[in-house]
Amino acid sequence: MNDEQLGNPLTAEAECDFCIELNGGTDHLFQDIVKNTDISRIVLSNGGLRVFPGLGMLADGHLLISPTYHAKSCFQLYPDDAIGLIHLIKEIRDKIQKNTGKTPILFEHGNPTTCESNCSTCIEHAHLHVLPFDPGMLPVIQQERRLIGSSPLISNPLSHAQVTEPYLMLVDTNLVLHFFSTDDAPRQYLRHLYARLIGQPELGSWVPNISAEQTITNANHYRVLLNT
Ligand SMILES: [Zn+2]
Ligand SMILES: [Zn+2]
Repeated sequence: MNDEQLGNPLTAEAECDFCIELNGGTDHLFQDIVKNTDISRIVLSNGGLRVFPGLGMLADGHLLISPTYHAKSCFQLYPDDAIGLIHLIKEIRDKIQKNTGKTPILFEHGNPTTCESNCSTCIEHAHLHVLPFDPGMLPVIQQERRLIGSSPLISNPLSHAQVTEPYLMLVDTNLVLHFFSTDDAPRQYLRHLYARLIGQPELGSWVPNISAEQTITNANHYRVLLNT
């Protein structure tokens, strides 16, 4: 997708917590919690993309990949970052596999439209969740949601799978992307599903599970793991 198709070039938004944090600002939720401007949770950068552990983590090793600008879907990234994202996914997957022997799974609550409402997003700013292992998500989603399309991990998988509506995306352990409908899906559906499958349904919502200590510990761990 190019700038013209997006309507306006994407920039950081003054009111968005992720835009503020990922552009080096200090007035954001993570700072409110740690109260120390010397502490950052960003562990890796690639072009306009940042990698960092989440705040209400589903499991140790739960990372997010986000752009520094206000895109609403990983498929609204600028072309260089769309390519960068593929490299990042492969690099992170490779290093987690070597470190833990397990293959991560990724998911996104995404909205490729300009419409505001999306019942299934966690937060509006695009963020791809990286979870350290797969508790068997695909067969359950296949039972519970309508499949829109699937695609291998290529530069523009969204158009390949013909996705034009808000979606739930799962990147399986073979790096195949599956897009499911958000129709009737509860908010944060994929988070809640992961939490349910690991036997800890109380971790489904991120806000009650915020732990600065866990996030900082994971940031320190991944800063070493992903930069060596
Ligand atoms: Zn934003
Ligand atoms: Zn999310």
